[in-house]
Formats: sequence, C-alpha cells, structure tokens
Amino acid sequence: MTRIGRVYLVGAGPGDPGLITVKGRDCLRRADVVVYDYLANPALLAEAPPAAERIYVGKSRGRHQLPQEEINALLAERARRGKIVVRLKGGDPYVFGRGGEEALHLREQGIAFEVVPGVSAGFAAAAYAGIPLTHRDYTTSLGLVTGHENPEKKMSRLDWEKLAGGVGTLVFYMGMANLELITRELVRHGRSPRTPVAIVRWATTPRQQTLTGTLADIVAKVRAADFKPPAVIIVGAVVELRQHLAWFEERPLFGRRLLITRAAEQAAVFQQMLEARGAEVLSVPTITTRAPQDWGPVDAGIAALPNTDFLVLTSTNAVDFFFARLRDLGLDARALGGVRLVAVGPKTAAALSERGLRADLVPESFQAEGVVELLRAVGVAGKRVFYPHAELARDLIARELRALGAEVDAPVLYRTLMPEQGGAELRALLEKRALDAVIFTASSTLENFVRMVGEDAAHLLEGVALASIGPPTTRTAQKFGLTVHVEPAHSTLDDLIEALVDYFTRTRHEPGMAHQG
Ligand code: SAH
Repeated sequence: MTRIGRVYLVGAGPGDPGLITVKGRDCLRRADVVVYDYLANPALLAEAPPAAERIYVGKSRGRHQLPQEEINALLAERARRGKIVVRLKGGDPYVFGRGGEEALHLREQGIAFEVVPGVSAGFAAAAYAGIPLTHRDYTTSLGLVTGHENPEKKMSRLDWEKLAGGVGTLVFYMGMANLELITRELVRHGRSPRTPVAIVRWATTPRQQTLTGTLADIVAKVRAADFKPPAVIIVGAVVELRQHLAWFEERPLFGRRLLITRAAEQAAVFQQMLEARGAEVLSVPTITTRAPQDWGPVDAGIAALPNTDFLVLTSTNAVDFFFARLRDLGLDARALGGVRLVAVGPKTAAALSERGLRADLVPESFQAEGVVELLRAVGVAGKRVFYPHAELARDLIARELRALGAEVDAPVLYRTLMPEQGGAELRALLEKRALDAVIFTASSTLENFVRMVGEDAAHLLEGVALASIGPPTTRTAQKFGLTVHVEPAHSTLDDLIEALVDYFTRTRHEPGMAHQG
C-alpha cells in the first residue's frame, strides 16, 4: 500500500526557535521533506529526522526566491509521492506569507494539508520589545498591514484614511523600503506627527534591535542608524510602554557573543544557561572523549567492587563512561552494593542521581582538593578506593589518598582528545572579531584551543574576554601567555556565569559591537 502524502503548513515563529508550537515541532519530527525559507530559524531544521530532505526556497541577499508556482508544484509533487511534507514558514503561515496561495493550490490539486499556526513577527516583536499591542488605557484595536505594496501604485489598496483614523495600533510588515511613505500618509490623513513609533529588527533573536521615535522623526533615525530589514514597524501610543516594559534587551548578557569550548555532550546545558541570561552562544568543542585504549584495568576494578570502600568520580564524563562500561559487562548499579560514592561536585552528583544513586560524599569546594579533604576527614587508612579517571587528569587525588594510607586503584576510564575539525572555524571567528568572550571550563579545553587556533592565539584573542572556571585553567592560560579576565570564586558553571555578568556590567563596551559585519 502506498502511503498517502500530506502537507503541513507550519508556522516556524519569528526566530527564537523556542517559539515554534509543540504541534509544529511534532510535524517536523515526522517530516520526510522540509521546505523552508530564510526567516525560519535553521536551528529548527535539526528537529527533522537526519534523513529528511531539506529544501531551501529563498530568499536571501543576492539569491532569488524560487517562484511561488514552483514552490506550489514542489509541495504537491512530494506529497503525491507519499511524503510527509512540512512547509516551514516564518511567523504564521497565513500572515503575509503567501501560505494562503500555497493552501489553495494544494486544495485544487486534491492534496491533503493541515495548517499549524505560528507566532507572527508582529506579535513576537511587540512582546520582546516590551510593547503590549493593546492596552485598555491606550487602544482597543490593532491592525496588521503590509508595507510592501509598490509605491508606484501609490499604495492604492491601503485605505490610509481609515488606517490613520480608525485603528489604534498599526503593525507594518515588510515596510522598511516604504517607511517614508507610510509615515507621510499616516500624518497626511490625520495621525499626530508625535505618535510614537518603534521599529524592531531581527525580533526574538540575539540580534534584536529596537529603534523608537515618532512619525515625524523615525525616518531620519532609521537613516542615521542604518537600520535594515527584516523589521516590523509598530505605530501607536502603546509604544510608550516600552520604557517600562522592555526586558529582552535588558538581560545582562544580551548582545554578547560568547564562545564555549566544552565537549559537545556537555555544551548544551551550559549553552542554555548562558542563553537564559541573554547571550548569543556559539559552541566549538575543543575536546572530545573516547574510550580508553585498554579496558582491562577498569574491568579489574569493577570486578573488585565487592571489596571496595569508595568509588570516586570527578566528572559527569566519568559517570557516563563508568556506567556505559558496567552495562557492556552485563552489569548494573547493583554492582556498587556497599561501595560509598564520592562525587566531586553537584553536577557529578546529579549524574549519579539520574541513575538512581545518591552520592554519599560531595565536597564543599568542587575540586580534587576538596575530595582529598573530605576523605581525610572520613578516614581512608587501609580502605580500598576505586578512582577511574580521565587520562592526563591531575594525579593529586590518587597521590594524596595513598599518602593517607588508602589502597588506590586509579585506571584510565576515558581519554580526552583534540577534535580533528574546528581549528579553521575558531580562527575565522577570531579573525572576524566576532566574539566578546571565550569560555573555558577545563584546562584541557584551553590547551587544545591554543593548539587548534595556532601560535598567534594570544594575538587573535586581543579584545576578547577570556573566562576561566578556576585556578588550574587559569594557570594553563598563563602558561600560554594569555590573560584571564573572568574567574569566579567557586568553580561552578553558575558562579562562572555570574562572574561573566559582573564583568560585562563593569566593562560596558557597546553591546552588540561584535555583531557589526
Ligand atoms: N508570515 C510572517 C511574515 C512574513 S512577511 C509572520 O507571520 O511573521 C516578512 C516580514 O515579516 C518581514 O519583512 C518583517 O517585516 C517581518 N518579520 C519576520 N521575521 C521578523 C523578525 N524576526 N523581526 C522583525 N520582523 C520580522
């Protein structure tokens, strides 16, 4: 039986990938084909299965959009072949997006389709710029208007008199090229020249910028600031509320472009934490993990668990590799029986907790020194300690615990390697002066970073803030002649982020500087 294809016209939302609907995302996850254009955030494409066909249909600077008839034909053709087609459209598919034309074509062709609404740019821009589109004290009506009509036609289809006089808040899409005409016509038809106007570009993304003025002066301000599309123009008294309600651009790391270098598996959580504070985050891992060359020593330690007193794990990686190995050996957490679990810090403890295990001991300072102090206090003389660790880890724990009389088994549990790819990307980012800060959460990531970038790393890092999670990483930086600008008092991700916030609040160079060019 051949499967019957179907097209989903899905609103991608305005840019922030979090603003797609749950239903829209579900459609993407089931898609065989995704047809998208430049206002749909590329991050959303990652939701589609790897094997899904991804078709870009324009338009961006220079390149031309696929003609609408060809898009229509493409949607119909793939659906006829039994495919689940997601037509991903910026904002809402039925707001100035020609989604209506696509749907009519599909209906004519007898092809099944559904429409998943999206957060339209006007609504999103207003929300993220701090402008309630309606407010009882200001206005009770709202109009969405296309500003894209051909000026030669004298915007013939727009009834300026009714727009100017009859609608409270006006939101113009695609209006930047005609801004002068829009403001002139509104004033000519009775709107006060003092009416507030806000223009929001790249709304809901880290590049969001908002320009405010009045019908009288906004054109000059746009020119002076060289303010470019895509942008929506919001006209009306409600724009005044922005001075009280702005929030998105007020977040402490907004406009800062930060590079994180941790391993891919660990980057996502950190990235989200930074993004929550408003930063734009790029991730280029300078480290990747691999199994040890020889599992023998770890397996021997696992076999000896029944006679082991303490298991020390000093990273979430260690937890991951340890449990992966247990599983490969046909074992599970029960193998840990009476062993007491020592986690270096809350993240490692949380990784244990995900496996249904509670860490017995977690030091106050989340470092190797803390582990040693804690075990010194508990007493380890004559005890057996299993400490499988990263290759090249500092040997402090094993050495100190032995000095305390413990019998320490410390095999290599995983290796950390420098990725083969990424060096060129790092160099390009630094050469373009595209970064405000580079963040290192381990000595090894810094060391690899320098090796990947090359000898002139120090020179390329000029003007970029360097953030280090703690003293060992900072010492490595110094070894390479690099100055560390940000280091928290405690070596946790939360403290590191607070230190970054402090730093950027203090230095306050033009936010968004890194975004030029
Ligand atoms: N269907 C879309 C609109 C498509 S028309 C929606 O519902 O949002 C394209 C216009 O949308 C652009 O010219 C601009 O005016 C607006 N737009 C889209 N994304 C935007 C964004 N992130 N910031 C500001 N304006 C945006």
